[in-house]
Amino acid sequence: MSKVYFSSARVKKWRYEDSMPGKLELLLKEVGLMNYFSPDEWVAIKTHFGSEGAHRIVRPIFLRKVVDALRRIGAKPFVTDTVRIKGLDYLEVANQNGINHLSVGAPIVIADGLYGKDNIMVKSGEILGQIAIASLIHDVPAMVVCSHVKGHINAGYAGAIKNLAMGGVSSAHRTCGWKCGRGAMHTIGEGELVWDKEKCELCLQCKDICPLDAISFKDEKLEWDGNICWRCGRCERVCQNESLRLSGDDDRFMRALAEAAKTVVGTFEQGKILYINFLTEIQPECDCMPMADVPVIQDIGIMVSDDLVSVEQASIDMLIKSEPLPDSMASDKKVHAGEDILLKLHNRPYMMQVEEAEHLGLGTRNYDLVEF
Ligand code: SF4
Ligand code: SF4
Repeated sequence: MSKVYFSSARVKKWRYEDSMPGKLELLLKEVGLMNYFSPDEWVAIKTHFGSEGAHRIVRPIFLRKVVDALRRIGAKPFVTDTVRIKGLDYLEVANQNGINHLSVGAPIVIADGLYGKDNIMVKSGEILGQIAIASLIHDVPAMVVCSHVKGHINAGYAGAIKNLAMGGVSSAHRTCGWKCGRGAMHTIGEGELVWDKEKCELCLQCKDICPLDAISFKDEKLEWDGNICWRCGRCERVCQNESLRLSGDDDRFMRALAEAAKTVVGTFEQGKILYINFLTEIQPECDCMPMADVPVIQDIGIMVSDDLVSVEQASIDMLIKSEPLPDSMASDKKVHAGEDILLKLHNRPYMMQVEEAEHLGLGTRNYDLVEF
């Protein structure tokens, strides 16, 4: 059984120690960072920088607390993520979302270079074969994975596994292209986008949201470039008229996530990764969408563990027990108290990513919750 350290987001006393930053400081002290990291050791703090409109990320104040705690034991932290958009633009997104050297107290470094092509092909599992790990994540000896827990278009639930899998891998490899990058987790290129002209009202949202310009309209007819599309599913998600259908295999996707996470973890020695899940601002979409909706679940708190599977299972267990918030997507979709909110919103078998991660030896679903 693994330990998951937890502090609630509820504040009962009017003092710093009871604030969330104060509680994170305490959690990190209890966990004992010196058990994982050494003086002078470079430690990557892997987070998601968000996007221009997705402001509900792991807040810079929390990253700052992790940086400060690492510095106190003499380690050398930096904050990192892989690029989703062009690297210079992505650094500006990080800056606009409050993540910069001044705010977090450590360098902000793109893990796979400004062009997103600094990566190393690593042998993976039976689904992916091989995958392009961001070279910085591949090479750094230690990492703290700071994950914002929320919903996700394909994964249903997005926490540490998704942060490692999608976030530790580049969009594309220099020669192999997107099929060796994070797109390989989606459908490995087999799914075809089907457009129903009758239902389409030509709002162009699908075209606008596509990160790869794989959709265009000519003479009021949708044209899709299946060679560059990495099957992220965004276009299907934003279509309000069910006019797009992108076939995919959810089970395969969940297992591929776990497989990629294992490949990333495999580039570290045992005991060199710590996981912090932030169950805050739990909104329906991923942090890479161009917007963030209001939360569907009230802030729950922060979890820390050295067991990837345990921290994910503990997070999910708390989400399942939570009630849907009013005036949110949960109430729009008539999710009732007692129902699994993220499952109702996305209808994806998200638990499979955790089960598969356990099956692959990444940890145990049996955990002991230690509350502070
Ligand atoms: S989002 Fe849907 S309705 Fe709008 S243009 Fe695309 S396919 Fe048509
Ligand atoms: S799935 Fe849709 S949004 Fe995603 S890359 Fe392909 S066309 Fe673009």
